[in-house]
Amino acid sequence: MTVSIGTLIGFYVMLPLAGLLGLWLFDEWRARRKRFVPTSAVLATCDICLHQFFCDKDERLVRCPRCGSLVRQKGDGV
Ligand SMILES: [Zn+2]
Repeated sequence: MTVSIGTLIGFYVMLPLAGLLGLWLFDEWRARRKRFVPTSAVLATCDICLHQFFCDKDERLVRCPRCGSLVRQKGDGV
């Protein structure tokens, strides 16, 4: 079995590049997994001062952190 010098040079160049490509794809995949944060918080808007803040989606009546008024979450039917 004979291997040409062109094939050897091709492997010598392509193997490190394939390794770097694999490392780059793995790093991108890992970074995307870190950025995704599942949360149960929803965005609520105060009717008085229009301040927007996050609150738990199970709370129907939350207090605005800026003005202190009670805010009813949207979608509860009233
Ligand atoms: Zn407010």
